[in-house]
Amino acid sequence: MKDGREIAFIGIGSNMGDPTANCLEAITRLEIVGDIEILSRSSLYKTAPIGSKEQDWFVNCVVGVATTLGPLPLLKKLMIIEDSMGRVRKEKWGERIIDLDILLYGDKIVREEGLTIPHPLMHERGFVLIPLEEIAPDVPHPVLNMSISLVADMVRDQKVVRIG
Ligand code: ATP
Ligand code: CA
Ligand code: CA
Repeated sequence: MKDGREIAFIGIGSNMGDPTANCLEAITRLEIVGDIEILSRSSLYKTAPIGSKEQDWFVNCVVGVATTLGPLPLLKKLMIIEDSMGRVRKEKWGERIIDLDILLYGDKIVREEGLTIPHPLMHERGFVLIPLEEIAPDVPHPVLNMSISLVADMVRDQKVVRIG
């Protein structure tokens, strides 16, 4: 952006308690935590869980933000919000009260210990791409060099149900 801020897209998911309320609460916390301005928000979507154990369905959405934070400080803030909402870190892909992932950070490619951007699995996940497409259809995926709409074309067979 002209003002020096970067535009990032954050994937939000929950499958514990009241998942819709948890997603909306996370967006509220993103707004009040500082250095992050919410620019856009997708609808909420319901999706079947990935991973092995029996789990409840997920509610997912994506927000577009403008931020002065670099990628790692942004991730740190997301983790603080997850912790503040009572996330317990157990096994990967286990059930969780809230999950906040950095999907895209401008057109930057980040490959660091503990942070990969674009999110390494986003291109195969309908629950990420369908909401992201809603707010950023023409934004390029900087590794695949394709618009989000074209990447989303590859996951149209996945069941992602808009709930509001
Ligand atoms: P997945 O990454 O497949 O969506 P997950 O969200 O369940 O799985 P977590 O347990 O929430 O995984 O996070 C594991 C680690 O992933 C975090 O500690 C974080 O350091 C790392 N990580 C790497 N890239 C990213 C990213 N783009 N956004 C958020 N976390 C990331
Ligand atoms: Ca995730
Ligand atoms: Ca995560």
